[in-house]
Amino acid sequence: MKQQLRSFWGWGLADEILPDAYISEFKKMLQLAFGLNSLDETPPPQLEELSLRPPRFSLPSNLKSFCTEETYDRANHTYGKPFRDMVRAINRIFDNSPDYVAYPSTEEEIVSLMIFCAEKKIALIPYGGGSSVVGGVEQPRENQYEGSISCDMMKFDKIIRVNKRSRTARIQAGIYGPALEAGLKPFGLTIRHFPQSFEFSTLGGWIATRAGGHFATLYTHIDDFVQSLRLITPKGVIETRELPSAGDGPDANRFFIGSEGIFGIITEATVRLQSIPTIRASSVVRFADEKAAIEVTHRISQSGLNPANARLISPMESFSMGIGNGTDTILLLGFESHDHDQEPKLRRALDICREGGGAWSVSDVSIRKGNETAAPEVSERWKTNFLRAPYIRNNLVRCGIIMETFETVTTWDNFETFHSGIISTAETAMRETCGNGIIMWRFTHIYPDGPVIYYTVIAPGRRGASTFALSLGFLTLAGITTVL
Ligand SMILES: Cc1cc2nc3c(=O)[nH]c(=O)nc-3n(C[C@H](O)[C@H](O)[C@H](O)COP(=O)(O)OP(=O)(O)OC[C@H]3O[C@@H](n4cnc5c(N)ncnc54)[C@H](O)[C@@H]3O)c2cc1C
Repeated sequence: MKQQLRSFWGWGLADEILPDAYISEFKKMLQLAFGLNSLDETPPPQLEELSLRPPRFSLPSNLKSFCTEETYDRANHTYGKPFRDMVRAINRIFDNSPDYVAYPSTEEEIVSLMIFCAEKKIALIPYGGGSSVVGGVEQPRENQYEGSISCDMMKFDKIIRVNKRSRTARIQAGIYGPALEAGLKPFGLTIRHFPQSFEFSTLGGWIATRAGGHFATLYTHIDDFVQSLRLITPKGVIETRELPSAGDGPDANRFFIGSEGIFGIITEATVRLQSIPTIRASSVVRFADEKAAIEVTHRISQSGLNPANARLISPMESFSMGIGNGTDTILLLGFESHDHDQEPKLRRALDICREGGGAWSVSDVSIRKGNETAAPEVSERWKTNFLRAPYIRNNLVRCGIIMETFETVTTWDNFETFHSGIISTAETAMRETCGNGIIMWRFTHIYPDGPVIYYTVIAPGRRGASTFALSLGFLTLAGITTVL
C-alpha cells in the first residue's frame, strides 16, 4: 500500500536530493543577498518522531481491505505542497492527519466509502498526487465531521482506450503525468499538458483544480483537453458525453472542472490529444530594457504567431536560474509542430524582438527536426533549473527561508500599474516583516488581452518566531508559521 518513495513532508521522492554543489551555490547567493552568516538546515522529520492522533472511528469490514491507518500513509496525506504546509511538516506538526487513507481500485469501493462517510458524518477527501497548493487535500478542522478519510486515487492508473482517428483517449483519473505520457507515446500522441508539478500530479487532480500547463499560448489549460468525464457523487454517477463540442445550454464539464472534489470523485475522463511535435524552432532573446521586453511580448501575444513558449523572465529570476547576468530581461521563444516548418514563425517573432531592442547570438537560435540538434543551451539550462526549483525549496525552507510563489493575471492596459503595485507592496511587506527579501517574476502565459504573471518571493524567516504573516496588501499569504 505504501507509496514507498514519496517524501511525506516535502517535494518529490524521499531519497531524491539535489547535487550538494548546486544547493551550496544557491545558499551562498542568499547569504550574500540577505547578509546572513550561515544557513543551517533543520533535519527533515522522521516518521518515528510523529505521534499521530489515534483514528477517531472504526472502519466496517467492507472498507478494511483497501484502507490503512499506517503512520506513513496518514502523514503523507496530511498536507499539500505549498510553503506553509512544508513549514508545518518540518516542524513535526501532524495534529490533524486523516484517520485513514483509502486506496480504492474500483468504483464500487468508492461508492461504499461514500455510503459509510455520509452515514457517519466523515469527511471524504479526494487525493490525486497531493501537489495542491491551496489546502485542497487537507482535512477540515471544524467539528462538523466525526473524522476524515483521504481517498487516494493512485490505483485508477490505466489508459482504457486510445482513439487515434479522433485523437482522444479514455483514461483513469489517478494516473500520474509521466505514466500518462509513457502510455500515449507508442501511439505518437501526447496530452501536451505539462504543469511544473507534472511528475507528481494526476489527471483527476489537474481536472479538479483547472490546472494550467507550461505552453505560452493557445491550448495549455486542462479545460481545453477534457472532452468528457465520469464522476461518482453521493447521489449517483454523472457522465458527460464524448463530443467534440456542444451548444446546448451550460457546459456540464465546466461544473466539475475546477470543483476541487466537492461534488464527487472523478474516476475517468476522455481527453483530447495532440500529435507529438517533431519540428521545432527556438531562440533566447536578451533585452537591456525591461519595459521594451514587455512591449515586445505584448506585440507577439497579438501577432497571431502563437508561440508554444514565450516565457519572459525578469533579470533577478534569470540570474537565480543561472541563465542571466542580473540586468537583462530574457525572452525564451519556441515554436513547435508535428506537421510544418516553424522557422518562418520564429524569424517573424525575432523581427519583432529586433525592432524592440532584443539581441541574441547565433548559438541562441535552434531549428530542429526530430532529435537531430539540441535546443539552445540556455533554454535547456532554464528547463533543468525550473524543474529543480521545488526540490531546492525542500532545503531552503529547512534553513528558515521563506520561499513562496503566486500567480495572477491582468489585462495589458492595466499591466503596468498592477505589476508595479504588486512589486512595491511585496517589497514593503518583506522589508517590514523580514527586514529584507527578493521578489522576481516571469510571464507563464500570454493571452492577446493580457499576461499571466508568476511571482516568486524569497525572504529570510525568523527562526523562533511563531506566526508569520507576509502581508502583500490585497494578496495575503497569511498564517505562515516559521518556528524552525
Ligand atoms: C512545485 C509545484 C508546481 C506546480 N505547478 C503547477 C502548474 O504548473 N500549473 C498548475 O495549474 N498547478 C501547479 N501546481 C499546483 C498543483 O500541482 C495542481 O493544482 C495539480 O493539478 C494538482 O494535482 P494533484 O493530482 O496533485 O491533485 P491533489 O493535490 O491531490 O488534489 C487537488 C484537488 O483536487 C481534488 N482531487 C484530486 N483528485 C481528484 C479526483 N480524482 N476527483 C475529484 N477531485 C480530485 C482534491 O480533493 C483537491 O481538492 C503546482 C504545485 C507545486 C507544489
